[in-house]
Amino acid sequence: MERIGFIGLGIMGMPMARHLLQAGYVLTVLDRVPDAQAQIVAEGAQPGTSPKNVAEQSDIVITMLPDSPDVEAVMLGKGGVLEGARTGMLLVDMSTILPSVARRVTTAARSLGADGLDAPVSGGQVGAINRTLSIMVGGSVTAFERAKPIFEKLGKNIILVGDAGAGQVAKAANQIVVAVTIQAVGEALLLAAKAGVDPVKVREALLGGFAQSRILDLHGNRMLQRNFHPGFKVRLHRKDMAIVLNTARELGLSLPASANAAELMNALIANGGAELDHSALVTVLEKLGDYEIKPHTENE
Ligand code: NAD
Repeated sequence: MERIGFIGLGIMGMPMARHLLQAGYVLTVLDRVPDAQAQIVAEGAQPGTSPKNVAEQSDIVITMLPDSPDVEAVMLGKGGVLEGARTGMLLVDMSTILPSVARRVTTAARSLGADGLDAPVSGGQVGAINRTLSIMVGGSVTAFERAKPIFEKLGKNIILVGDAGAGQVAKAANQIVVAVTIQAVGEALLLAAKAGVDPVKVREALLGGFAQSRILDLHGNRMLQRNFHPGFKVRLHRKDMAIVLNTARELGLSLPASANAAELMNALIANGGAELDHSALVTVLEKLGDYEIKPHTENE
């Protein structure tokens, strides 16, 4: 079995690393929070001392970090993974970051005779814990086939989308659909409520028709129950919308609905909502319309 290095033991990384450990992989772990690292070392992982050190102990290094600058620093920075990398190694970044940064990491890996994959995920903390993540992969077929047995320990819907950066482009596309649909569901339920029509019944009616979606189902229910406990935090979704809009700008594309949803996220964050679930976007629409959907508990 290949020796795996795992860097970034947060909400997502910790359960993912744990699955690999339980599958029998020799795992070297690193997080800048000493407690997170100590927790999984107590379960049998080896402690790493720096990204370079993790690379030296591993055949494959996986990163699950917050944002593009974190991945750049850990992979390409001083004392980073690249400094400990060698021919035949594979670097797999599973964070959600800019496609351009993902391509830079893989290009740097290939220049050393190593290879890279961008493999962002969808499915959240629950998906990470239950091993049901969707994994969208960008890179070479050879690297994908090598990493596949590892991905199969973490998720279910595992798709090679294209070469380097393609996984991140797919994830950006995913985040557009989620953000814009949350806004649409919020607008629909608010319209119903302010018109004096029961939004619970409206949601039920729409769930049986063409407007049906998991977001109408799950996030619509959250909006009606006023349950904005995360879930997926607005702060992280805004980060992902910045990836969407930066990538669109690099491509010379205008994405008006994405920009609009991102602005509503900015407003929610300005109103203290950064740590709330992204379904709380409806509360900004409510402020604009001077009307609040009443809490409904029927669907609990
Ligand atoms: P998190 O903030 O909980 O975890 C990130 C971890 O990385 C933290 O433990 C942090 O200490 C560590 N870290 C940061 N910089 C480091 C460094 N230089 N060296 C070592 N460790 C470092 O974030 P998360 O929720 O686990 O998300 C990770 C990635 O997955 C993000 O890109 C996020 O957008 C994406 N994602 C998250 C979810 C979700 O529901 N949370 C869902 C899908 C995708």
